[in-house]
Amino acid sequence: TKWDTKGDLDESKNLPIYQHKATLQQAVKDNSFLVVTGETGSGKTTQLPQYLHQAGFWSNGKIGITQPRRVAAITVAQRVSQEMHCSLGREVGYQVRFDDCTTQDTVVKYMTDGCLLREILADPVLSQYSVVILDEAHERSLNTDILLGLLKQTLSSPDKASKGRSVPLKVVVMSATLETDKLSVFLGGCPVFTIPGRTFPVTSKFSCAIGPKDTESSVYIKEVVKVALDVHTSEMAGDILVFLTGQSEIEKACDMLYEKAESIDYRYDVQDHKVEGLLILPLYGSMPTDQQKQIFQPPPPGIRKCVVATNIAATSLTINGIKYIVDSGFVKQLNHNSRVGMDILEVVPISKSEALQRAGRAGRTSAGKCFRIYSPAFWEKCMPEYTVPEIQRTSLTAVILTLKCLGVHDVIRFPYLDRPEERFILEALKQLYQCDAIDRRGKVTRLGELMVEFPLPPGLTRALLQAASLGCEDLLLPVAAMLSVENIFIRPGHPEKQKEADKKHRQLGVQAGSCNDFTMLLSVFEKCKASDAPSAWCKDNYIHWRALKSAFSVETQLREILLRLQKRDFPMEKFDGNKSELFRRCLCTGYFTNVARRSVGKVFCTMDGHGSMVHIHPSSTLFDQEAQLDWVIFHDLLVTSRIYIRTVCPIRYDWVKDLLPKLHEVDVYELSSVARE
Ligand code: ADP
Ligand code: MG
Repeated sequence: TKWDTKGDLDESKNLPIYQHKATLQQAVKDNSFLVVTGETGSGKTTQLPQYLHQAGFWSNGKIGITQPRRVAAITVAQRVSQEMHCSLGREVGYQVRFDDCTTQDTVVKYMTDGCLLREILADPVLSQYSVVILDEAHERSLNTDILLGLLKQTLSSPDKASKGRSVPLKVVVMSATLETDKLSVFLGGCPVFTIPGRTFPVTSKFSCAIGPKDTESSVYIKEVVKVALDVHTSEMAGDILVFLTGQSEIEKACDMLYEKAESIDYRYDVQDHKVEGLLILPLYGSMPTDQQKQIFQPPPPGIRKCVVATNIAATSLTINGIKYIVDSGFVKQLNHNSRVGMDILEVVPISKSEALQRAGRAGRTSAGKCFRIYSPAFWEKCMPEYTVPEIQRTSLTAVILTLKCLGVHDVIRFPYLDRPEERFILEALKQLYQCDAIDRRGKVTRLGELMVEFPLPPGLTRALLQAASLGCEDLLLPVAAMLSVENIFIRPGHPEKQKEADKKHRQLGVQAGSCNDFTMLLSVFEKCKASDAPSAWCKDNYIHWRALKSAFSVETQLREILLRLQKRDFPMEKFDGNKSELFRRCLCTGYFTNVARRSVGKVFCTMDGHGSMVHIHPSSTLFDQEAQLDWVIFHDLLVTSRIYIRTVCPIRYDWVKDLLPKLHEVDVYELSSVARE
């Protein structure tokens, strides 16, 4: 294939970073902290780990590289294993949540920042590593920010840093050009190495299609499709990169492009550059990796490539040959929503700095053009200057539990690169208290020590552990696995098909005896597992077979974690009641923070103090049966013009009666007292 041709891989010598190889190798040897910065595409992620490998760092331990995004960790590891001529998982490997592709031989290890955080839990000085590279620090992901603080704390106290290590750990922080001075100051004034970049001018054009009030996805999807086709028919050769928000929007746009591109009269002559056809390629996080590989391959001669991507193509992955950018101006982002008091995935306008980064993707190898589908007024009124770091806009619950388990009790005065608001920290402490992970004084409980082992949201972990202590983990493990993978259910855009899909899904729920969305997940999992032809079964039932396959693997891994914990001193309890009640009561222990009670008609009211008015989402098995319901729990919220609750289960008030007071009678001041002592 294209990959193994020598010429292709030799390109690495043309990357801007190549000339600085020896200097970089020396700089890492000489400093415990080093900040490396350079334009996206200069070769930081793929080359520096190889340089350190060549410099012999592997003999003192692994070279670990963290990425905020799992897709980036996987694709880059693939690429580097090819460049180093080894098979993936041997010298070069990767580890992401629920997918470990490393062996005893692995010395260059790409992983998500979340994975390294889990490793620190078991081994605070990271004794297995000689170098740790925190990549994409400018993204300001929650886990990378926490790792920065932890490594700063560890390395700045000499006795902590050397304990259990023969040679000191080296930490390299890599970032696209932003905020490097701030990083250096934070890390005690460490040196900053800048890789001089070569960039070409990009001209950006605004349009008037999207004004400050247009956030309807159908509007901006239509518009990017139109603009991409315009570029295709009227611009000279060069590939197109379209920035959209998420999987479903990307799939819709690609469908529209396929349809319309076919009706374009190809063999269009543009100033002698013959561009005949359009090769349309989606790119998003949960895509199979073999499909992602295509993205990097040059298109066949005379064909123009058009990649429709999420923000992943802004800095994490560099695609060669891009000359045109179509920028939707939006991004899907996890934000704490104070109206409903929970984290919600929302579509929001990107920041101005993000828009510049996106545009820059067109100018890597020659001058490029960026087409913004939004107006100057949108830029002025809707787009913030910079993207707010994740730590300042999402729930800190899981991270605070991790910190506490690492012995960082003073979570308020922890060295944050950007301090989250104190109320977010207190909120996290409150939630940890509510699910029994910490006690009234803010100390980690035995349950909390078990909970931290699971890479799941705390509420779900709590429910799972409750089930395990009652001997019915077989009911909860599949549910937890199903909730951990993306997009199990196919909901076609076509209204008739959508109805049919919803009906099929509902039937699956009913067949499980008692009907609710959690038993539906269980039933889909079990039915498919028992089926002789699972992939055909999935197709029939509008289920993504690939997603379900990963749910099977996740379930096995969760079961392994649980088995390991059950060998410790594991709390056991007794329950006499029927199985359906047992299942739902276990859910209640974790989800009582997400309780709602029907008020009038189809409207429910949440009980968490926010008193949000919510509706059951149309995809739920309980949709249209609201009249028969009183109390329910739910897994998450979807906010559009209404607030919807998704993955819903009816419960009895009795089951949560004793838990509900916990929602209100918490003394947050006392909870943070360990921190204040
Ligand atoms: P940086 O980290 O500085 O942004 P990278 O190391 O990610 O730069 O990229 C360097 C070069 O490697 C780019 O030209 C990019 O296109 C190429 N590259 C990275 N991953 C792959 C891949 N999976 N397949 C082909 N080329 C790749
Ligand atoms: Mg990179």
